[in-house]
Amino acid sequence: MTTIQNIAILGATGSIGASTLDVIARHPSRFRVAALTAHRQVDELAALCRRHRPDYVCVADAAHAPRLRERLAGAGVGCRVLAGEAGLVEVASLPQVDCVMAAIVGAAGLRATLAAARAGKKLLLANKEALVIAGPVFMETVRASGAMLLPIDSEHNAIFQCLPPFASGELAAKGIRKILLTGSGGPFRSRARADLHRVTPDEACAHPNWVMGRKISVDSATMMNKGLEIIEARWLFGASPEQIQVVVHPQSVVHSMVEYADGSVIAQLGHPDMRTPIAQALAYPERIEAGVSSLDLFRIGALSFEQPDFERFPALNLAYAALRSGGAAPATLNAANEVAVAAFLEGRLPFLRITAVIEETLAGLPPSPLVTLEDVLAADARARARANQIIARFNSHAA
Ligand code: NAD
Ligand code: MG
Repeated sequence: MTTIQNIAILGATGSIGASTLDVIARHPSRFRVAALTAHRQVDELAALCRRHRPDYVCVADAAHAPRLRERLAGAGVGCRVLAGEAGLVEVASLPQVDCVMAAIVGAAGLRATLAAARAGKKLLLANKEALVIAGPVFMETVRASGAMLLPIDSEHNAIFQCLPPFASGELAAKGIRKILLTGSGGPFRSRARADLHRVTPDEACAHPNWVMGRKISVDSATMMNKGLEIIEARWLFGASPEQIQVVVHPQSVVHSMVEYADGSVIAQLGHPDMRTPIAQALAYPERIEAGVSSLDLFRIGALSFEQPDFERFPALNLAYAALRSGGAAPATLNAANEVAVAAFLEGRLPFLRITAVIEETLAGLPPSPLVTLEDVLAADARARARANQIIARFNSHAA
């Protein structure tokens, strides 16, 4: 008999949060929801508490805590209410929590995700931005605490499944030539750059294969999502930039591949449904039902692969360049991207300017060393300020 795992979900009201709760609800004898968090979606969070009865709940925007308390009291739900970033960190470190799903979007998830790593939890990492910006600090924290880090990003989860068990350290020593990181190419894969000037947020968020939160959907449209994933793979698997090759695969059936020295290429296939990687990580090393149907290869018929177009999608080159620069450059890239994507989603920046803002932010900030968490936070703040200035200047010219 397996002992029950107590799970905390950071970012429970999001797309990954919903998929995680779906898998958990299929296995009440294996998993129990111990804690849930959200930014400020009080009604959704209260509804989740009614359904899953966690011990703790946290609303990151503390101003919303009184309303959450009221809602829960009204519904007769007795969980402890925490608030603010300190509450997120507390949830991630609770002694009774065995496993933390880190599914907050963006750098906002860094402290809580890192707290779970520091507390030595089984850490299911969806919040890729935390690893991208804090790579060496994050990995050292995991090493020192002995936390078990399992990737949720579908590509990295696929790579993890294709690697020899317990792989860490240099790829070459394990007979691996390279990682083939697949990506659908996003909603604009076959659109000319000139056609993208007037793209709206809803068009950018209409991903052909995946249903996701709006920030990662825009990242998929610019292909910065793949750029962030290159950096994520560097840290998760100890791969050099040269060992990570992006392969455009429009069907999103092959979720990534690993090529070995003997010429073998091992791939993981499945429906584009995040419940598969979530279930793989939740039950690891066992396998459980995730509510995902069999892959019908006869219906799919053919799989195709293309070279990425680095000219139409400059985000890929920006990510490779930031990775090669090292230090705080990936944190700068990520912060500029978050600011530019938010401006695009709010109608303050045209789609094609997103990567231009990132490029200009990187060019204006010389790479600084990144050794401590404070270095990460300082680089993030500097890049946000710079990116905001660039957007304001652009808008004053456009006005
Ligand atoms: P989402 O926007 O649907 O949900 C984000 C969650 O984070 C929500 O619960 C929200 O309340 C919370 N949140 C937002 N801002 C916050 C803040 N400032 N402080 C605290 N909490 C905050 O996002 P998502 O699509 O579920 O993505 C979550 C993470 O998983 C991202 O890092 C994304 O890159 C990654 N990811 C998502 C998918 C996917 O299919 N959705 C796939 C791979 C990786
Ligand atoms: Mg992915």
